[in-house]
Amino acid sequence: MAPSIIDLRSDTVTKPTPGMRAAMAAAEVGDDVIDVDPSCERLEQMTAKLLGKEAAIFMPSGSMSNQIAVRIHCKPGDEFLCESGCHIYNYEQGAFAQLSGVVARTFDGEQGVLTVDQLKGTVRPWNDHLVRTRMVCLENTHNRGAGRVQPFDVVKEISDWGRSEGLRVHLDGARLMNAVAASGIAADRWCDLFDTVSICFSKGLGAPIGSALAGPKEMIVEARRHRKLFGGAMRQVGVIASAAAYALEHHVARLVDDHANAQILATAVSRSEHLTLLPVDTNIIIFKVSARLGGAAIFAAELKSRGVLCFATSPTQIRLVTHLDVTAEECQTAGEIIVEVAQDLAAGVRRAQVVEAAY
Ligand SMILES: *Cc1c(COP(=O)(O)O)cnc(C)c1O
Repeated sequence: MAPSIIDLRSDTVTKPTPGMRAAMAAAEVGDDVIDVDPSCERLEQMTAKLLGKEAAIFMPSGSMSNQIAVRIHCKPGDEFLCESGCHIYNYEQGAFAQLSGVVARTFDGEQGVLTVDQLKGTVRPWNDHLVRTRMVCLENTHNRGAGRVQPFDVVKEISDWGRSEGLRVHLDGARLMNAVAASGIAADRWCDLFDTVSICFSKGLGAPIGSALAGPKEMIVEARRHRKLFGGAMRQVGVIASAAAYALEHHVARLVDDHANAQILATAVSRSEHLTLLPVDTNIIIFKVSARLGGAAIFAAELKSRGVLCFATSPTQIRLVTHLDVTAEECQTAGEIIVEVAQDLAAGVRRAQVVEAAY
């Protein structure tokens, strides 16, 4: 891709740095399905320690971590409670239904944030007509909620309530480390509120591949069994696990830079009378495009023609994500281009044709 392109589609677009490549090349490996891959084992121990859990298991993707959590917590005919914009419900092909025979019950949050009052009274009585309510899933930071950091006290209330009802509590923490960076609340304190937590190494942390599921030892033993069933057991996996370990060692402290860069974009967006910004807590920026401009797909196509890549996440919404591979200067430039596109579209000036809508 030409260096002039500024890619703000996702924090998954980062490429491994030279240091990360060197760590991958040097990684000691073994067959992690027969017995153990030492680099993967090291990563799993580092992750468990970081998250304050007994054990962790490396997974090929965040979706697999989440779906294996569903699988170990629920049986066919069970339901889980979640926010209606969450990743597990929207972006994993309903795998909980396809693979585990589980249903989801959704509740509308405010930028992805639920309250305990919405959940109280929703646990179904056990009788032969009803599905069994087994689990609550939360997401932190919340992707569709514009990278919102869940308020810690609210999460604690929901967790306390869930546990008092005998429910399992799972966190989709694909971007938990962004929540840690923004809140100053340590990862293990957040994770203490959950039985299991998934995190992604391939988002803000900048590894090319991978996720982990952490939790009590016996749950992770179960997760290992189901990872094999789901086709996610990997052999000399240290080649990629070492990239994730490198990311934990080198890319956590710098997440605040992504958040500062997001504020550069947020400031630009908020300057335009045609764009309405949602509050920006971390590295995700979501804004609404006024109807006068013709919709988000047109806006995204116009940005692309001027060298800025983004996603239209609904007919009226644009999402931008900052990451390891965009600089403050590029965010400044992208911000200027965004304001200019809004002005041009409002004045009826269009350079690009919409090829496809991404939502
Ligand atoms: C990216 C993401 C995942 C996992 O995605 P994969 O592409 O399967 O790794 C899970 N939850 C959230 C909130 C995400 O943003």
